[in-house]
Amino acid sequence: DGDDVLLAVRGVSKSFGGIKAVQAAELVVRRGTIHAVIGPNGAGKTTVANLVTGVYGIDSGEITFDGRRIDGRRTHAIVRAGVARTFQTPLLFTHASATENVLAGFPDTGRLPLVRAWLKDPGQYRRTRELQDRAAALLELVGLGGDGHVEAGSLPYGKQRALEIARALASDPRLLILDEPAAGLNTAETAELGRLMLTLRAQGLAMVVVEHHMDLVTQVSDEVTCMESGAVLAHGTAAEVLAEPAVVEAYLGVE
Ligand code: ATP
Repeated sequence: DGDDVLLAVRGVSKSFGGIKAVQAAELVVRRGTIHAVIGPNGAGKTTVANLVTGVYGIDSGEITFDGRRIDGRRTHAIVRAGVARTFQTPLLFTHASATENVLAGFPDTGRLPLVRAWLKDPGQYRRTRELQDRAAALLELVGLGGDGHVEAGSLPYGKQRALEIARALASDPRLLILDEPAAGLNTAETAELGRLMLTLRAQGLAMVVVEHHMDLVTQVSDEVTCMESGAVLAHGTAAEVLAEPAVVEAYLGVE
């Protein structure tokens, strides 16, 4: 792979019992680019995200991140290597504040009882202040500047999705995997999400976005991979992929 390759999924397969969820999949994400993964329901898109993040082990093939094998590693090690993700349905600490949710995303602080650490060690207190400031900056970045104190579960759905992104960014990733980030968002929120993704890309962050919302895919993606029945059906720019007869067919086939 060239130096510009950040993530490479090569010939990866995964079955669940008799279901071949992913079959010899290829996904190459270049540094600082947005790569959309599209395809009908059940195509294997989320499973690819789960394989890259170590939720499941792969049956065959290999996955490299920044030139190093990450298949077979545990999720926390993959996060430490620089991969973060959000989920199809937000998984927030609903009874904690937005700020606390972001704090939980910082590596090695999730389990840290902050107040106790501060009483014991003034150094930890400084560190806690720093983390609070970084959490505030991340909330600001995703449009939640005024919501730090709000209980996550009582935020409107669109803001919960933005909060998930802020929490994922807390691990300071080089690759962010977004699983259907526009699902459940209204038009204005989807446009906002698109702008946020372009801002993050301008800061050098690479993204994989699993998405059904084609306007968003067309707006943000540098490359698109279309999957069907676990396999890659087409790869190229959004315009190229969406013009492929096989891709049109795959989408019409599920109507
Ligand atoms: P959607 O757009 O609906 O989210 P998808 O492209 O993300 O679909 P996957 O969720 O990856 O598709 O599912 C691919 C196939 O693998 C489906 O047939 C699904 O039922 C199956 N599958 C995924 N995860 C598991 C699992 N943990 N156990 C059993 N089958 C699974």
